[in-house]
Amino acid sequence: MKKTGGCLCGSVRFEVEGEPVSQFLCHCDDCKRQTGSPFSVCVCYKSQKFYLIKDDHLVGHDMVGDSGNSLCRKFCSKCGAPIFTIADMAPDSTFIKMGAFDDPSWIKPTLELYTKDRVPCGVTGFEMDSHEAMPPEF
Ligand SMILES: [Zn+2]
Ligand SMILES: [Zn+2]
Repeated sequence: MKKTGGCLCGSVRFEVEGEPVSQFLCHCDDCKRQTGSPFSVCVCYKSQKFYLIKDDHLVGHDMVGDSGNSLCRKFCSKCGAPIFTIADMAPDSTFIKMGAFDDPSWIKPTLELYTKDRVPCGVTGFEMDSHEAMPPEF
């Protein structure tokens, strides 16, 4: 079954096929800044199951994470909506922002990362496997 999503203005549209590999919250300071929220919620798919249908105005911001690996945060340059991230440390994976899905109601994160950077309003009340930073097996 395919799921669809995109940015606020409709310049970027994507589809994913099948089930995600993982779903997690990230409390790191970079995610706060990029999303404007206490944490970001990411849904990870194998990149071959992720299809960009429309990528007008899709741009990327390259950064180096605190693990020393580089990553690229993709967003729409017209409306500013964050869409997905690709990371050198997981070259086969695409990390899609929960809010980019047309229907995010099915999304249920099971893991939270970088709880060392969690802010008081970033507490969810959900039972999750918590990690202070990046889990070693990630
Ligand atoms: Zn847009
Ligand atoms: Zn993060």
